[in-house]
Amino acid sequence: KVRWAIVGASQIARSWVAKAIQSVPDAELVAVVSRSAERGRSFANDLGIPVSATSLKSLLAETAIDAVYVSTNNARHRDDTLEAAAASLHVLCEKPLGLTLYDAVEMARACDRAGVVLATNHHMRGAATHRAIRDLVLTGQIGRPLAARAMYCEYLPKELQTWRTKDKEQGGVIYDLTVHNVDVLRFVLADEPVEVMSMKASSLIGENGVEDQVQSIVNFASGLIAYMHEGQVFAHHETALEIHGTEGSIYGRGILDEAPSGRVYLRRGTEMTEIPVEPANLYATTIAQFDAAVLHGDRPAATGWDGVASLATALAVRRSAQEGVRVSVPRFE
Ligand code: NDP
Repeated sequence: KVRWAIVGASQIARSWVAKAIQSVPDAELVAVVSRSAERGRSFANDLGIPVSATSLKSLLAETAIDAVYVSTNNARHRDDTLEAAAASLHVLCEKPLGLTLYDAVEMARACDRAGVVLATNHHMRGAATHRAIRDLVLTGQIGRPLAARAMYCEYLPKELQTWRTKDKEQGGVIYDLTVHNVDVLRFVLADEPVEVMSMKASSLIGENGVEDQVQSIVNFASGLIAYMHEGQVFAHHETALEIHGTEGSIYGRGILDEAPSGRVYLRRGTEMTEIPVEPANLYATTIAQFDAAVLHGDRPAATGWDGVASLATALAVRRSAQEGVRVSVPRFE
């Protein structure tokens, strides 16, 4: 079994990931680390986690752990991951992997050097809907993909309108949702973004110049052009993912989400067929795949380098929107 500690008593860990770890047969949720002893204790009590500690160091002095889920706010991902790698722990890190490409590459290299698995929690790779879409694309069901549209537009709940909407250093929809949209497109298309052109706005809830929506046109290596829209201000917008090819189109409705939700359709001419999909918990699928990487050397759903790639495109989006120019996306391996 992989013995897990959650680093950061966060909302996403509370609402999804802790229970996902507890539901996977190869995983055991042993501890939570929170800088606040009180928040850590109540998190552990509420979720039935045996141990709570106020630092990774004090935890490791007393408890054996194999892997950490870094679920702290964006500005802490780098240090928390480097500390875990230095202790030879495997790491599932939340997105964005880091705030800068320099940091993200340093994280990926440190984990490679330490011989530990680094994965990025791009949880939508665990969605049955996204896997179905990828299968349709890669088995040629829509011929050659020519264009894609990914619309990750939602309303950010009031209780999450804290650092995400106010803090210029680590907040904003680009770190929050653009990285996911980029990863979704890379995953379902098996293609790489090469250039972006973007515009952003602080429309409703973003403060201090922090953007709450952004729209981009992205060129991919194959020649495909994608449109991406991410927003935290849309209370009535259904999320959507479309891929349009020479032989057909795929429509994913309501599928950019934390919950296993939404439907997938294949359209040829005017005929629309629903693709049957068996819903599964996205986070549990991601954890199970991570455990297989640790225990059997398999590939995690999204590697550390996938996190570097999604961040590279997201930062190109930010620069394009800031400077009003087309920006090339750098590639790292
Ligand atoms: P939170 O705002 O809930 O928590 C972030 C950190 O802040 C926690 O690790 C905690 O650290 C500290 N904290 C939590 N509550 C409080 C409080 N009341 N007062 C002071 N500090 C507090 O973060 P989210 O759950 O919204 O996001 C965590 C990470 O997960 C982010 O990087 C985000 O981008 C990512 N995320 C990913 C999702 C996905 O599906 N892949 C979905 C949602 C978020 P500590 O306990 O050590 O003090």
